Amino acid sequence: MLEASHHYFHQAADVIGLAPKVREILLTPNRVIKVEIVEEADDGQLMHYTGFRVQHNNARGPCKGGLRYHPTMDEDHAAALANLMTWKTAIVDVPFGGAKGGIDCDPSQMSRFELERVTRRFVEQCKEIIGPTIDIPAPDVNTNADVMAWIMDEYSRHAGFSPGVVTGKPLHLFGSDGREEATGRGVMYALEEALRDRGGEISGTTVALQGFGNVGSHAARLIAERGGKIVAVGDHVGGVSNEAGLDVTALVAWATEHRTVAGFAGGDAFEGPEIITWPADVLIPAALEDAIDENNAADVRAQIIIEAANAPTTPEANAILHDKGVLIVPDILANAGGVTVSYFEWAQNIQQFRWELDRVNTELEKYMRRAYGSVREVAREKNVDLRTAAFVLAIQRVGRAALSRRSVHETIDLS
Ligand code: GLU
Repeated sequence: MLEASHHYFHQAADVIGLAPKVREILLTPNRVIKVEIVEEADDGQLMHYTGFRVQHNNARGPCKGGLRYHPTMDEDHAAALANLMTWKTAIVDVPFGGAKGGIDCDPSQMSRFELERVTRRFVEQCKEIIGPTIDIPAPDVNTNADVMAWIMDEYSRHAGFSPGVVTGKPLHLFGSDGREEATGRGVMYALEEALRDRGGEISGTTVALQGFGNVGSHAARLIAERGGKIVAVGDHVGGVSNEAGLDVTALVAWATEHRTVAGFAGGDAFEGPEIITWPADVLIPAALEDAIDENNAADVRAQIIIEAANAPTTPEANAILHDKGVLIVPDILANAGGVTVSYFEWAQNIQQFRWELDRVNTELEKYMRRAYGSVREVAREKNVDLRTAAFVLAIQRVGRAALSRRSVHETIDLS
């Protein structure tokens, strides 16, 4: 996975002729932390996990990025995802660097109390290297507002009242209005911009969606509200389709209760993996990485892909899709709405001031459309695809910030 993010980086670095030493500096994580977590399970047995935090780059501000609780979490995963966060924060131009971390546990097998104990132990082990001006975690796969509340509480025990240490907190505990749906809302704006490039609009557009967690479900709802037709949704258990468009509100209610879209009565059942090649105008991968690979890319029927998940397309698949003329809006642009509203939440915490939902959504729309416009401009200017353009823009912004922080005799060209 780390190889894939490096691959896209080098592709962009080639376009601007970036020197090997600068590439090495921009790709090397600033700090990598690995901690042991030993806690007691509810039945008295010992739980034993490893926690990770990779702080990739802080040239543009404190490190920022989610915490993922998943059995596959390891240093390589954290490093690859931290790397993507550095470029993502630069593209939406929020004053943060990039980080990512998590624990190699499976929350579906743990009680709420076990999850809380493991989270608190992780914070205890990392408390010196996180903080409102150092590194600010947020939700990611299998973590949510409750987990963020525990982090805030545990960190505040050590450092004093610090709501700005973490974002994605509950609304009643210094969270921001609009944060929970922010990534999905940003995905919807990215889709609108992509459709504009292809001469279309959301109304009447058919969408196939992989994953129905926080990001996928909010994106589906917002797209359906604008007249888009969610014709198929697949997850790790199964899928459901309806040519006339699924009733998203009913599907959200079903998925909340059953933890899967499988079995929903408002459509026909199908096997999960089929979703990638579903006949629809748009495909939105909103689950885990590597969903689109060399085995299924050639069969993708959508003309537009909006990468709501992080790293859902392997470099091999990316090349195949590019040759097929599919327009891909890359993760570091398409799913940046989450970290954008995380920035608004952090800013509200620091100022001890609360924004109305309208203000959050208006600002989010502005940030997303501006970011898309800047990436589009680079793509036209350099005659490259959106992913390469997004990386070019990010490398330039991060590189310039890094260079301005010190005097260097060597001339480094970032144009
Ligand atoms: N985990 C989200 C992401 O991958 C949000 C990170 C944040 O808000 O800091 O972008």
